[in-house]
Amino acid sequence: MRIFNFSAGPAVLPEPVLRRAADEMLDWHGSGMSVMEMSHRGREFISIAEKTEADLRQLLNIPPGYRVLFLQGGAMAENAFIPMNLLDGRTGADYVNTGEWSKKSIKEAGKYCTVNVAASSEDRNFTYVPPQQDWQLDPDAAYVHICTNETIGGVEYHWVPDTGAVPIVADMSSHILSRVIDVSRYGVIYGGAQKNIGPAGLTLVIVRDELLGRALPITPSAFNWKEQAAAGSMLNTPATYGIYIAGLVFEWLLEQGGVAAIEQHNIAKAALLYDYLDTTRFFVNPVARSDRSRMNIPFHLHDPKLDADFLRGAENNGMVQLKGHRVVGGMRASIYNAMPMEGVRALVSYMQEFERAHG
Ligand SMILES: *Cc1c(COP(=O)(O)O)cnc(C)c1O
Repeated sequence: MRIFNFSAGPAVLPEPVLRRAADEMLDWHGSGMSVMEMSHRGREFISIAEKTEADLRQLLNIPPGYRVLFLQGGAMAENAFIPMNLLDGRTGADYVNTGEWSKKSIKEAGKYCTVNVAASSEDRNFTYVPPQQDWQLDPDAAYVHICTNETIGGVEYHWVPDTGAVPIVADMSSHILSRVIDVSRYGVIYGGAQKNIGPAGLTLVIVRDELLGRALPITPSAFNWKEQAAAGSMLNTPATYGIYIAGLVFEWLLEQGGVAAIEQHNIAKAALLYDYLDTTRFFVNPVARSDRSRMNIPFHLHDPKLDADFLRGAENNGMVQLKGHRVVGGMRASIYNAMPMEGVRALVSYMQEFERAHG
C-alpha cells in the first residue's frame, strides 16, 4: 500500500518509475547487471546518460547553446560553486532575498564575493516576491541570483526578471519541470534532484556556454563547470543510479505529455487546495496570492494547539510529512509532479472534516 507523501524532499516519485526500477534492478536490459554496478564509462551507462540528457533537453526545450551537467553536492554545494564558477574578473553579485533558501545562498556566496542584496521581502516575513521596480541592481554584478520557488515559504516567481546583460542564476530545486520555462532567459539554472526529479545525490546544472571559463582558480575540478562540461559530467564518477532514475522520471514526464501537460495538472492540483484555503478562516496561507507556489503550500491552523491532532489524524488517513518547516511552523503540503490529484483531494477532504470537528 502506497501512502500520500507530502514531503518537501526527498519526495514522492511516480509509482511506474519505482516499479520499472524494481523490475530492472538485477538485470538492466539483458546486461546481467544492475545500473548501480555498471562502469560509468561502459557503453550501457553511457547510453543511459545520453538518453537522460536528451529527454531533459526535450522536456525543457533547452537551446543548443546550453550545457547540461549532472553533478553532486546538492543545491547547497552549488551555492558556493556558483560564485566560484562565475566571478572571474568581477568582485560582486546581486541576490534577491525571498526566504530561507535565498538566505542560505546569500550566506554561502558571502564567503567568496561581495553580495549586494538587490531586493528583499523580509519586511513582510518573506510572503511575496519583491516587484522588479524595487530591485537595486548593480550593472557590474557578475550575475543576479534568485530562488524561483522558495520551498519553505511557499513563494514562487510567476514571471522572469529582466536583468539586461547580467545573467540570471536561478535555484529551481523545488519547481523545475513543474512548469514551462524559457531557458534562454537564464544564464544558469540549478537544483538538487530530490524534489521533482529523482533521488538525492544528483544535482542538475544547466549553464549557458558563454558563461563557462569564468571560474576562480581555486574552484575544485569536480565542481568546475567548464571542466565537467568538457568531460560530459564524467570528470569524476557521477551519481550513476540517480541519473538512471532521473531518466526514468523524464520518460514518465514525456508519457504524461511533457511539461506543458504536467503544468496544467499542477495548476489544477494547487487550485484545489488554495480554493479551499480561500473559503475557510480555520486554515490560513500567508503568501500573497500572485506569488503562491504551486509546489509547496504552507498553511497554519489559527489555533496552533491543534497542530499535533491535525498531523496525527492525517497520518491515520494515509497522509504523511505534512508538518511545516520549523522556521515557519504549521503545516506544509508539497505537491510535486508525482503527487496525484487523488492525494490533494484526500488532503482537502480531511481538512474539511477536521474543520467540521474542531471549527
Ligand atoms: C532543497 C533545496 C535546497 C537544498 O538542496 P540540497 O540538495 O539539500 O543541497 C536548495 N534550494 C532549494 C530551493 C531547495 O528546495
